[in-house]
Amino acid sequence: MSSQAPSLVFSFEDARHCVETHAANMRPKGRELLSLLDATGRVLAEEIHADRNIPPFPRATRDGYAVRAADVQRVPARLEIIGEIRAGASLDASPNPKAGQTVSIMTGAPVPDGADAVVMVEYSRADGSQVEITKSVSSGENIVPCGAEAQRGQLLVSPGARLDYAAIALAASVGRSRVIVSAKPRVAVLSTGDEVVDVDVQPGPHQIRNSNSYSLAAQIKAAGGEAAILPIAPDEPVRLQELLAEALECDLVLIAGGVSMGKYDLVEQELAALKAEFFFTGAKIQPGKPVVFGRVLGPAGREPSDGKPKYFFGLPGNPLSTMVTFELFVRPVLDALCGAAPHPLVFTQAKLKSVVRTKTGLKRFLPATLSGEFDHAEVELTRWQGSGDIAAIARSNCFLVIPPDREQIEPGEWVSILRR
Ligand code: AMP
Ligand code: MG
Repeated sequence: MSSQAPSLVFSFEDARHCVETHAANMRPKGRELLSLLDATGRVLAEEIHADRNIPPFPRATRDGYAVRAADVQRVPARLEIIGEIRAGASLDASPNPKAGQTVSIMTGAPVPDGADAVVMVEYSRADGSQVEITKSVSSGENIVPCGAEAQRGQLLVSPGARLDYAAIALAASVGRSRVIVSAKPRVAVLSTGDEVVDVDVQPGPHQIRNSNSYSLAAQIKAAGGEAAILPIAPDEPVRLQELLAEALECDLVLIAGGVSMGKYDLVEQELAALKAEFFFTGAKIQPGKPVVFGRVLGPAGREPSDGKPKYFFGLPGNPLSTMVTFELFVRPVLDALCGAAPHPLVFTQAKLKSVVRTKTGLKRFLPATLSGEFDHAEVELTRWQGSGDIAAIARSNCFLVIPPDREQIEPGEWVSILRR
């Protein structure tokens, strides 16, 4: 007797929250030490602290004159120039101005004790050893006090942070040439379908090339994971079970195709045969309605070596459906397996360029083109032939998000988009 998966069709938001709830309990499988540059885009697995006060001295933020603010309350004021402090000048050797005196100073140089403000060079007229200051400053102006940006020992970057260029700069600024990051999760990619052949094979007239394994691998890579592309599974239980067993060796399993209602869509049935637990078997979205999320203990009830259940997604095989369901549902799981702190899915807003008409009932994520610049972003649907039209998807640059209750959206209305 063949097993059957339950029917659990969620709204988009409920399906997303379901994934987020499970993702909250997932952890990366290990950690590794990398050189700072190799760690770009990876997820930090340690705390990074300030190794000293930042800045380590009161730092001039302008080229000009280090003064006592009290000396330049009335302008113009004439001061005696007693020296110069350039960036990199030793703190001990700095000339120290007294009342009526000033020091020429450069951006990034330490402000001497005797001064409490910096006047920009633009508001000065130097004349030999004298300078006329033409604008008054208040105490502290154009100086960042010692330790104002961070105190020695302060936590600067927490575990779970993705190391973008700003975090990399911060790590470099506190002397971290190597950092500990979470290990990359290995994600199995299993495309199914009797009509699907690999990219190197010349397809027969009745066959199509496997593109889903490649879009998924590219998405996995962009999200910080490592893709393990398995051979294509035919629509036949025995070989499908063999490949599922192989896939379950990985940290996460993505199966593309074979989750719809067709006679040869066997994926759910074969997962049910493994006593899989299904969290949902559909979401009210288009494309991607038949998306499946669940977990399984191991092939044929065999426990995985770590004793932990393996999570899987069954993604509909239409190329756009596969791509969209990855972005909407797989990403939070991959983030969690990478050790990244959870972050909500945020849509951005743009003005609709031309009218959109759809049927109600499903939340839609349709290929669209965002154009314009600065505050004048406009978006319009890409002409396409449906979810299999990879050429149209590649021409588009975002997804237009259409709420399930809208039949028609007029030009000029603000609409949500998902950037890609
Ligand atoms: P399925 O989800 O298996 O019903 O497939 C839906 C559609 O996507 C069909 O037109 C399939 O031929 C196509 N498709 C399935 N798998 C792939 C794949 N790996 N690459 C490209 N297209 C696919
Ligand atoms: Mg199929």
